[in-house]
Amino acid sequence: MSNSSRTIAEVLGCLADGSITIVDLSRPLGENTPVIGLPPEFAQSPGFTREQISKYDERGPGWYWNIIHVGEHTGTHFDAPAHWVTGKDLPENTLDKIPARKMIAPVCVIDASKESAADHDFLLTPEFVETWELTHGRIAAGSWVLMRTDWSKRTDTDDFLNIKEDGAHSPGPSVDCIRLLVERGVAGFGTETVGTDAGQAHLFDPMFPCHHLIHQAGKFGLASLCNLDQLPATGAMLITAPMKIVDGSGSPVRVFAITPS
Ligand code: MN
Repeated sequence: MSNSSRTIAEVLGCLADGSITIVDLSRPLGENTPVIGLPPEFAQSPGFTREQISKYDERGPGWYWNIIHVGEHTGTHFDAPAHWVTGKDLPENTLDKIPARKMIAPVCVIDASKESAADHDFLLTPEFVETWELTHGRIAAGSWVLMRTDWSKRTDTDDFLNIKEDGAHSPGPSVDCIRLLVERGVAGFGTETVGTDAGQAHLFDPMFPCHHLIHQAGKFGLASLCNLDQLPATGAMLITAPMKIVDGSGSPVRVFAITPS
């Protein structure tokens, strides 16, 4: 057996004996999945709907299948660089062009759950990230950075979206935080909230900085993740494989973390 075959056998052995665990970071996708709302002057993304083709009946006696209708950015989903105008001319910017190799990467989890519980508009700052790095080491190029807020534990849609008279209130990254992460050469940035930006990020400069700056740099986004409380700060690996939609700007995604037990 070659060394590389042995490595794969070893990983499979660790999965079998439970010393490595798979954590599912995706939320169920269905008719009740919350969808981001935009200011009324913009076109809105619909939620998930489905229409039955047949279910073991006269339309198809031995089989069950549906037609699904869903916005690309619904539920736990992947943002490709082409999602934002700043990434529109980059190479490999749509789902069909992103190489599979880029969909497997190490992951850093920054725990801002206490801060986000105390302040629904909590912003991850460069100082917060650098303090995290003092304990866990510098964020390595090519890593995903996920912001843990425990927002996915808000199972009620109104609590999850948290919309007030002046718009949504949910935690996210500051402009300078995203600049720092781009400088670190991250693979992308992921959150537990409905989108990768904070609820009030339409007021930032640039507006929606995670979208603007991350996609401008050819990086990816992940939104509506869950189970981040089951991940170590470092040492896990993410597999993020969006659908291979031609010219796709994003898609619902099943995200797996491979973690030490
Ligand atoms: Mn999105």
